[in-house]
Amino acid sequence: MSRIVVSGCLLGIPCRYDGKSCPNERVLKLAEKHTLIPVCPEQNGGLSTPRPPAEIIEGKVINKLGTDVSEQYLRGAEIALHVAELNHADAVLLKAKSPSCGKGRIYDGTFSGTLIPGNGTAASLFLKNRYPVFNEEEIDLLEAALIDKEDSNR
Ligand code: SF4
Repeated sequence: MSRIVVSGCLLGIPCRYDGKSCPNERVLKLAEKHTLIPVCPEQNGGLSTPRPPAEIIEGKVINKLGTDVSEQYLRGAEIALHVAELNHADAVLLKAKSPSCGKGRIYDGTFSGTLIPGNGTAASLFLKNRYPVFNEEEIDLLEAALIDKEDSNR
C-alpha cells in the first residue's frame, strides 16, 4: 500500500474554481489499494470557492479579473507540499492543465483554451522537491512506478 497525495477535485471534492468537481473513476479506484490524501492547493492558499479562473502569465498567476493571485497559489503549493511531507507520500497525482496542479501542459494565460508546455505552481514545487508527479492521464505510469518502488523496498 502506498500513500498518494491527490488533487481533491479528482476525488469528487467540489473545490474547483466553478464550485464543481471532476471525479475520475480510475483515481477513485486507487483507494482500494492505496491511501489517498486529498489536497487543493488553491483552497489551501486561501482562495474561496467558487473563484475566478486564473492562468499563469509571465511567471505570475493572474485571475480573469486581472488580480495577481500568485501569493495565494504559492502559499497553497507550499501547504500541499507540507501535507505530502507530513504523510511521507510516495507519489503525487494531480489534475491535468490546472494553473496549480497541471503537470507538463498548462493554459497560456490568454483564457482562450490554448495549452503550452509548463507546470502549475504546486506541480512545479512537487517536482522541485523530487516527488514523482503524475496526472490523471498517467495512472498506468503511476501504478508502474509504485510497483517499482515496492520491489526496491523488498
Ligand atoms: Fe483541483 Fe488542484 Fe484546482 Fe484544487 S487547485 S480544484 S485540486 S486542480
